[in-house]
Amino acid sequence: MTTTAAAYGASSATAPLEPLTIERRAVGPHDVRIDIHFCGICHSDIHTVRGDWRPQQYPLVPGHEIVGTVAEVGAEVTGFQPGDQVGVGCMVNSCGECEHCRAGEEQFCVPGAVFTYGSPDKDGTLTQGGYATGIVVTEGFVVRIPEGLALDAAAPLLCAGITTYSPLKRWGAGPGKRVGVIGLGGLGHMAVKIAKAMGAEVVVLSQSLSKKDDGLRLGASDYRATSDKTTFKELAASLDLIINTVSATLPMDRYLGLLKIDGALVNVGLPSEPMAVNAFSLTHARRSLSGSLIGGIRETQEMLDFCAEHGITADIELIDAAQINEAWERVLNSDVRYRFVIDTATLDAAD
Ligand code: NAP
Ligand code: ZN
Repeated sequence: MTTTAAAYGASSATAPLEPLTIERRAVGPHDVRIDIHFCGICHSDIHTVRGDWRPQQYPLVPGHEIVGTVAEVGAEVTGFQPGDQVGVGCMVNSCGECEHCRAGEEQFCVPGAVFTYGSPDKDGTLTQGGYATGIVVTEGFVVRIPEGLALDAAAPLLCAGITTYSPLKRWGAGPGKRVGVIGLGGLGHMAVKIAKAMGAEVVVLSQSLSKKDDGLRLGASDYRATSDKTTFKELAASLDLIINTVSATLPMDRYLGLLKIDGALVNVGLPSEPMAVNAFSLTHARRSLSGSLIGGIRETQEMLDFCAEHGITADIELIDAAQINEAWERVLNSDVRYRFVIDTATLDAAD
């Protein structure tokens, strides 16, 4: 039997988000139906709904930082039972057979992963995300939220957490490494916490010093304003790794100049415009410029367990459904400290 969920979504690329009712598919043998309690607001929600990257179909309900409780499981589901605390991130399915799916990197699925919203699902419908009271997801894309993590503050781990954990781990953030984090927003503040927990020394590169106290409290040992030109002189060739979380284009050569020989700048921010790079910034110190896309399901579970072990969650502002449009404006104005999370219990009231 299909179920309905109260949701918040957009009817066009320019319309404000508004209350909607959406249908969720009947629970199949391998499906898990989840009562959503909280959903984080990621900048990608805004890029997608506003059509920054490519045109979309509407109505569209965003949200891919989903946590809740299992309400119902299909007959063949073995890993979850009603009442379990679970999460769903940016993907809800993939082919399961290609080399990347088999390697646990479903984000690189050859025919294409099914993303949590705005993506054609296997049954031909368009996926709808987590700004909603419920969702049905195949069990392989459901992760367990470890005991001890506050559910609301754990929601952002499902995207901001894994998107920063994955490159930090892959590029070896750890003791003896100096890691720069560009942008102290949702992803950036998670990068600071996780890099610090991995044992690295962290330098925040923010537009101004207005959030310096927070940056140091979150685990950075240095915090610099990129609006101050001396930052680029004083920190030249001093970092092993930089994670760029900025949603807009940046003068990449300046930031590449902060890397030591063999250093790497990993882009996770996804501006809609291309960024120029001078080849000399790379060749003359054998630097690399790379990118990273979320992380696989197995690695997402590993990240959640790592965060539970280190007591890491996001710093959040919990909001009601009626505040979603205002929260989006604040994200666009870099006025987020440091992730908005929707209390989905307020969606019913908004309907
Ligand atoms: P966010 O909360 O808005 O944080 C972005 C931060 O970048 C801002 O808080 C701000 O930090 C800085 N910033 C914004 N505009 C800037 C500008 N014009 N110049 C310099 N700095 C600027 O966004 P988010 O949710 O963390 O997402 C960040 C980006 O990552 C988005 O593009 C999103 O789509 C992308 N993303 C990618 C993946 C992936 O898998 N690769 C996953 C999730 C999100 P300061 O105020 O400190 O300067
Ligand atoms: Zn996201």
